[in-house]
Amino acid sequence: MAVPDRLRLGRCPTDMKRDQPTRILILGGGFGGVYTALHLERLLARELKEGRVEIGLVSRENYMVFQPMLPEVISGSIGILDTITPIRRLCPGTNLYTRTIQGIDLERRRVWADAGFGSQQCYLYYDHLVVALGNVTSFAGQPGLAEHALPFKYLGDALTLRNRIIHTLEEADIEPDPELRRKLLTFVVAGGGFSGVEAVAELNDFVRAAARSFRNLMSEEIRVVLLHAGPLILPELPASLARFAQGLLMKRGVEIRLNVRLHGATADAALLEGGERIGTRTLVSTVPSMPNPLVAALDCKKERGRIVVDRHLELPDHPGVWAVGDCAWIVDAKTGEASPPTAQHATREARCVAENIAASLRGTVKHTFSFRALGKMGSLGHRSAVAEVFGLKISGFLAWWLWRTVYLMKLPGLDRKIRVATDWTLDLILPPDIVQLKTDKAVGICREHFEPGEVVFREGDRGDWLYVILDGEVEVLRSTPEGGETRLSQLGRGECFGEIALVSDRPRSATVRSLTSVNLLAVDREAFHALFSSLPPLRGFFEQLIHSRTT
Ligand SMILES: Cc1cc2nc3c(=O)[nH]c(=O)nc-3n(C[C@H](O)[C@H](O)[C@H](O)COP(=O)(O)OP(=O)(O)OC[C@H]3O[C@@H](n4cnc5c(N)ncnc54)[C@H](O)[C@@H]3O)c2cc1C
Repeated sequence: MAVPDRLRLGRCPTDMKRDQPTRILILGGGFGGVYTALHLERLLARELKEGRVEIGLVSRENYMVFQPMLPEVISGSIGILDTITPIRRLCPGTNLYTRTIQGIDLERRRVWADAGFGSQQCYLYYDHLVVALGNVTSFAGQPGLAEHALPFKYLGDALTLRNRIIHTLEEADIEPDPELRRKLLTFVVAGGGFSGVEAVAELNDFVRAAARSFRNLMSEEIRVVLLHAGPLILPELPASLARFAQGLLMKRGVEIRLNVRLHGATADAALLEGGERIGTRTLVSTVPSMPNPLVAALDCKKERGRIVVDRHLELPDHPGVWAVGDCAWIVDAKTGEASPPTAQHATREARCVAENIAASLRGTVKHTFSFRALGKMGSLGHRSAVAEVFGLKISGFLAWWLWRTVYLMKLPGLDRKIRVATDWTLDLILPPDIVQLKTDKAVGICREHFEPGEVVFREGDRGDWLYVILDGEVEVLRSTPEGGETRLSQLGRGECFGEIALVSDRPRSATVRSLTSVNLLAVDREAFHALFSSLPPLRGFFEQLIHSRTT
């Protein structure tokens, strides 16, 4: 069967005939990208119908996430799939490429994306390009965060966090060691902006309500901590509303630590600047974000990592290339201030960019971008919220009702609106769902971080992992009959440990403790045995190593 004629974005300029349609390519399936496609479909309906224009959108996922409702996925007040909308349904006139973009070549006016399911890497050529790639979470430069902190930006993050909370409650319910129990029942969220506050409010409500279904958990044992670098949470809001939110969260049992910064993490602690540690098995970090690597690699003018555009949202030195949303540095034509990275702004920028692309095609006047946010709202769980709308400050139940009404109206797709409204209604009468979805595949290999003096494993523990030291040093200790410890060896970068228990299938014969800050590569039992049994040179290496360490 012939390939549909409309998949022409893949043709390079030399293949193109003179009467080929104008190709508009949008990168990113978030608020900026999807709303650009939606407006273009409406504005260029005739050109699309006559085949004079074609629109393509490339995104890693085939759905758009409605991020303002993401915190509610943690508590389960909204079903996992109800915060997302399929892009194909929203933009039926757009060719969707569900691919990961690998690079953007502004000179040759093309974008390339990775190979999909058994297919080849694809090149997409454009006449107009809209970059709406958002930003990404980055834990670079903060030891242990990449390994042990949970980000909170995508749908998968909300699901992982929800599962982690239920998992820790399950563990805590049967854990006899009070120290470990304390860590399991401590939940730390870093970042007192909108997403951090909404996340901690939902987490706090959920964990306290869910704990009632566990026989051995008491509400007083649960500790939920919010870390914020400034003197007051929600710096985006007027101080009076922020203080209201702070007071309300504290009343509900959230411990708010102000003027503190998260410095790093280990498997069982959040490390604060200044040396303080908070023992926890669940650390969520909603900060910081950094430019998308594709944007960072673009050869164009940037400000704080965001693409600088002119007042029409076009790149000054690249006609036909436009940028919107969190990845763009957009100066408001009226106020002269940079537009903040919010969904509200991204959707308005999307409309402006669509109008200006249509104007370029028709040779009419382009619009300048200016938008004053209608208001700011943050949900605090438990039928309470804070809002500043048209300069009016509202808090409590009214703000919560407004929050739900506005976001329900803004949620794209009638089916999603119905689903969310149903979820919210059921949530008012039913207890929280505590089903833990086990979606994890075998880990195989992962990275771990330890601070000086931390125990990697103890003598007598079951041996499930082999460790390779990436950097730092550890000491290997064995207990003495007198109750003390004797040092067997000191290991450093490139050396491994933990193999004896794995090969002999016996408990750990020694304790390993970090001497410095240590980064390790951990290989699980299954992966180790697969390699050990099928690679004779590796088997020989470990047999020799065990021999030298045990004789
Ligand atoms: C938890 C949370 C709550 C929020 N609450 C609010 C709120 O209440 N109100 C508000 O106004 N704003 C809120 N925001 C901010 C808002 O979500 C963002 O400002 C908005 O999503 C920006 O839209 P965007 O299109 O620029 O980027 P994004 O929505 O981040 O979209 C970027 C798109 O690019 C795609 N992409 C990136 N790299 C690649 C690649 N290499 N290949 C293919 N695709 C790629 C991504 O998959 C994604 O589809 C919230 C954000 C979070 C995280």
